[in-house]
Formats: sequence, structure tokens, C-alpha cells
Amino acid sequence: MIALKPIIGITAERGVDARGRVHLGQSETYVAAVTRAGGAPVLLPPLADEDTARALARALDGLLLSGGEDVDPARFGEAPHPDLGSVDPDRDLTEIALIDEARRRGLPIFAICRGIQVLNVAFGGTLVQDLRAQRPGAIQHAQKGPRWHLGHTVEIRPGTRLAGLLGEGVRGVNSFHHQAVERVGEGLVVAATAPDGVVEAVEAPGGAWILGVQWHPEGLVDRHPQFMALFEAFVAAAAARARENAVRAGAAEAAR
Ligand code: MN
Repeated sequence: MIALKPIIGITAERGVDARGRVHLGQSETYVAAVTRAGGAPVLLPPLADEDTARALARALDGLLLSGGEDVDPARFGEAPHPDLGSVDPDRDLTEIALIDEARRRGLPIFAICRGIQVLNVAFGGTLVQDLRAQRPGAIQHAQKGPRWHLGHTVEIRPGTRLAGLLGEGVRGVNSFHHQAVERVGEGLVVAATAPDGVVEAVEAPGGAWILGVQWHPEGLVDRHPQFMALFEAFVAAAAARARENAVRAGAAEAAR
């Protein structure tokens, strides 16, 4: 058996450097966690056309949707709330096309922070545009502590994929978001909630491995290694998918 390292696409974001040049990138912690789990990471830039994004998705074994700016509320039929943050319409277009193509191909999808939000929108759901303004009872979700600090708890629902990885019940997580899942998209179920009821994880029951978390496990794995279970399960699902493709390709070759 060939040892296959699955190709994991990690979505990147635009930023501006000190000299005003637009750079593409993402926190190295995503790359580190995927590599540590045995995946071969590659960054996926925001693009202006869907076809190119779909072509990229066809080259992947797994899709990791990373954190970043807000999703344009036009994507879920709403006008922008005054407290909406910055948006990158190209990134929205790219990630929604990547998700759509990944679903068509049955690829594993792991969605983190902004990732769970864009995943939910791609499944037809909606978002809270600003928790502070729109959810008066909400706890602090933009923690002031370091990345590895477990700023608030979540309750993980029994019987979910997430419970199989982290255990059911109350767990600490970090929190760096001002938006959240509102109406859950069709085909997704809630896997964890914060004490204020804010959705903190969703997943797709049955079928492909699809998990979204509102926190940042890639920022926790050094201090709290139990969160590596999420990356390990994702990369293992991508490796299984890569093996299936290799077997299929081999069979097609043999039949020529
Ligand atoms: Mn939170």
C-alpha cells in the first residue's frame, strides 16, 4: 500500500503589507496543524471567477476553510448591518464554489471560525451579522486573552461526530468572532452551543466528513493537544478519499 499524504487546500485571505502591497496568506498555525496531522497543505487564494475555484477543488483531497473577514450578507439575502466588518466578495465567491464542488465530490470539509459561517451560508443558512448588536444576552465571543486561552465553554451534543472526537458535554474553547450561525443551513445540524445559545459547531450527519467549529482549534493544539483529534480525523477522512481515488484511477488504467 502506498502511503498517501492527502492534499489539503487551506483558504487564504488578502492583506496589505507595510509598503501597501496586497499579499495573500493565512496564519501558519493552520499549515502546522494540517502538517502535524499528516496532510500536505496548499493555500488557496481568493479568486474572481468560480470556474478556477472549482478546478482547484478537483485537485484536492480535503478542504479547510480558514478564519477571516465577514461574509457579505447579500449572500444570505440581507442588507449590511452597521456593525458588519470588512468583506472580500472574491473570497466569498471562491469559498462558496470550493464548498459546492467539494460537496459534489464528497470531499471532507473542515470549517473554522469564518469557515463555519461561509459553510452555513453555502448550505443555505443565515448569519448573525454582529452578536453584540443583535444578541443582547450574548457572552463575550471576542476574547481578550491569548489564542490558546479557553475563553468560554461550549456544550457538545451527544451522538455527534464532534462528540466522538472531543467527548460530549461541557468543554472549554477559544473565541474570536463577532458573527455566528443564525438559521442552520439545510443538511447541517448543530453539534455544540455556547452558554448563551450561540451555535459553536455544525456538522453534516452521514455521508462526507463535514465539520464546522466557531472556535480556533489550530490556535489551541500546542497547549491543548486534545484538539489535534479534529485535524487528525479530517486528514484521515481526506486520506481515505485519496486512496479511493487512487484505486479508481488504477482500475481505469488497468482497463485501458
Ligand atoms: Mn464563541
